[in-house]
Amino acid sequence: VSFLFILSAIGYAPAMARRGNQDPEPDLFSGLEPPPAPGVSNAPTARTAPHERMPKTSALPPGAKRVDVALERGAPEPFTYWAPAVLVTQLLPGTRVLVPLGPRTAIGYVVAIEEVETLQATGLDPGRIKPVIKTLDEDGTLVIPPILDLARWIARQYACPLGSVLAAVLPAGVKRGAEAARLRMINAAVPAEALRAAAEVCAKKAPKQSAVLHALLAAGEPILATELLKSTEANDAALKALLKKGLIAIHEKAPVTLAEAYAQGTEPTVPSGLTLTAAQESACASIREALAGGRHRAFLLQGVTGSGKTEVYLRALATALETGRQGLVLVPEIALTPQTAARFEERLGRHGVAVLHSHLTDGERAEAWRAVRSGRIGVVIGARSALFAPLERLGCIVIDEEHEGTFKQESTPRYQAREVAYERARAAGAVLILGSATPSLESALAAQSGRCQRLLLPERVRGQKLPPVEIVSMTEENRDTNRYNYLARALVTAVRETVARGEQTILFLNRRGYATVITCLRCGHTERCAQCDITLTSHREREIVTCHYCGMEKPIPETCAECGAPGIKFWGLGTERLEHQVRQTFPDARVARMDSDTMTRRVSYVETLSAFRAGQIDILIGTQMIAKGLDFPNVTLVGIVLADTALHMPDFRSRERTFQLLEQVSGRAGRSEKGGRVLVQTYLPKDPAVLAAAQHDYQGFIENELRERRTYGYPPYTRLARLLIRGKDGAKASAAAREAAEILRGATQSSPLQVLGPSNAPLAMLEGFHRFHILVKSPTGEALAGLFGGPMGRALERLKGADATVDIDPQSML
Ligand code: ADP
Ligand code: ZN
Repeated sequence: VSFLFILSAIGYAPAMARRGNQDPEPDLFSGLEPPPAPGVSNAPTARTAPHERMPKTSALPPGAKRVDVALERGAPEPFTYWAPAVLVTQLLPGTRVLVPLGPRTAIGYVVAIEEVETLQATGLDPGRIKPVIKTLDEDGTLVIPPILDLARWIARQYACPLGSVLAAVLPAGVKRGAEAARLRMINAAVPAEALRAAAEVCAKKAPKQSAVLHALLAAGEPILATELLKSTEANDAALKALLKKGLIAIHEKAPVTLAEAYAQGTEPTVPSGLTLTAAQESACASIREALAGGRHRAFLLQGVTGSGKTEVYLRALATALETGRQGLVLVPEIALTPQTAARFEERLGRHGVAVLHSHLTDGERAEAWRAVRSGRIGVVIGARSALFAPLERLGCIVIDEEHEGTFKQESTPRYQAREVAYERARAAGAVLILGSATPSLESALAAQSGRCQRLLLPERVRGQKLPPVEIVSMTEENRDTNRYNYLARALVTAVRETVARGEQTILFLNRRGYATVITCLRCGHTERCAQCDITLTSHREREIVTCHYCGMEKPIPETCAECGAPGIKFWGLGTERLEHQVRQTFPDARVARMDSDTMTRRVSYVETLSAFRAGQIDILIGTQMIAKGLDFPNVTLVGIVLADTALHMPDFRSRERTFQLLEQVSGRAGRSEKGGRVLVQTYLPKDPAVLAAAQHDYQGFIENELRERRTYGYPPYTRLARLLIRGKDGAKASAAAREAAEILRGATQSSPLQVLGPSNAPLAMLEGFHRFHILVKSPTGEALAGLFGGPMGRALERLKGADATVDIDPQSML
């Protein structure tokens, strides 16, 4: 009752509110009366007087069927169409189709096909329903049944339109039918001597051609045309001219496709002499037993870095593959290094391994996807979205570093890959292995309550101890030295000793840029982004100050924007400044920095890491980019330059994140018999997360943290939804937020759901939008899905003067 009242109060047609079950309602499913989709104008459409164009009783042709279609964009519910007999044979649930939508056409996915009689039975008038125009999947349905089911589940759990989930399931290149581009390789067509002579001849008149020849000479091997042109700043014309002169040859090659790479197959290369530790053995036995049972089981594989988790994954996958089933491995994008991929390829390559990293072109991704679809691939490795890989014999899903926030998708559909993996494994009767050194509180509680079984790897494989961690209080350091320090004396000494021993150091700092706060010493004015209300960061190398949220850039100010005084102070420490400081402090050390400013190309990432591995770098400075998955035996010192960056975030997960990050980064040290140590600089030396990480006390930390979460009613004890309301006009957005809260309070009055807010979001303004949020705490996910998935979700989308986004199980509270 309250629903109807609320909905009519905001101008929503009451008929829309009557949808309680899966059965279609006439008004919802009429293909003739779609709500305006974004980008579709509201101008009068063909819907005027449809009854006159077609007699009301008109029957559909024989053999025609009713087809329900979820549109990729613009409509929360599927629409009803019909398909003539010739088309029906090509349609299956999951098939992509082109349909009329108002005056235009739209792309959607068939979600149901039924006899026409059922159409009349619902009271829909066949004469008013439009036919499907054509299928877009002529070579067979792209969305396979288990993925369609999974999409339905996601749509419900995360309160988003089924069409938008399906749109995210297929790679763009697959939809377009993209082919991987042919790569053009440039060779020298004449001996080096002749090439050199030719380069001299054309040096004056055709400097670009000359540059190309010199580059070829320098490389001494065929070069990719794109790289050659980039490095010489020449264009295609230069290549053509050289081709004509017969100096170079061009040949095209297909990018290595998975089928080609693995058709021959290599025997698995198990590292010689590797016998499993007792803990690994028992973990593998439990997983093997579950795989043999062929039923869904979930495991939490908890083991410190270097405890041999990956070895357990590899064996579990091998077991699944040997019984004819397939594997899926999800890793955080950042951990999807060539190193990781190579380990899986080496061991499982003969079964076909597809690595879906984010640097693939659309065409390459499409080729990989098609290889998977054809059934030739045994194991898919990728980030979050690899969950949707069309594997039909899935036997084992691995999520490595399951605690990572990146498993949550931050745009529609806002799903949590860990939860979706549970569902996919359940539906496929597959085994799910969640691995981490510091499992999320969600998984820790799941293990406590029996939803998954904990498998513990308590020690590093070679028995190395976890490195001792020393906490350095920066307040004391500053007081004792009577100045403001970036590097404490203890850390400076430790680095110096490490370099002297010929060993390597990692310095971790989770902030990019040079200075992070820019303030006028005269009037106190701090530089902020006008669009985002966030302090600007200076980048000296690029000679700009920039907003890390919206990307706004401007020249570094010399005088105060407010009072015009010259003395501007650049405070705060980013990686760029840290590098500067480190080079000054250790002038003889070889220093490199890895952050998203220096690592703009994938090549530079690989190059820097291999230089580090080869011992050509003494001190590696970096952000998150270096926190994970790297295994460098010669790293004996890790310095965490500022542990506090995440702790100040107004987010109930900030302690959990800090603990995980400190543990993770510490794990980079002491991975060989040389041992290692970790120094943590902090202004909060008494913080429980910092203290627990210093003692590697995971159990102590989560017991404490779980208690707090239960007391305050936060996940994993409750399920949270965050409604973010944003608008350009602050007053209107604020009013909309209040209205939304009222709607939600009305709808949850006599339920255990709790509505908090509205309040200003911690980032109250971003990209020119004023932001407010409302939190809903619920005892179950089901209750939230029920609340937002129904008419309520759509009512909230129609707020005046603001737009609202529902985020179920939000990872960011900013
Ligand atoms: P994790 O994934 O827990 O960080 P890994 O599986 O990567 O650990 O193991 C760390 C290193 O130890 C790897 O080089 C791996 O090959 C090696 N390793 C794993 N298990 C064993 C074992 N039982 N005996 C010897 N070395 C092992
Ligand atoms: Zn900004």
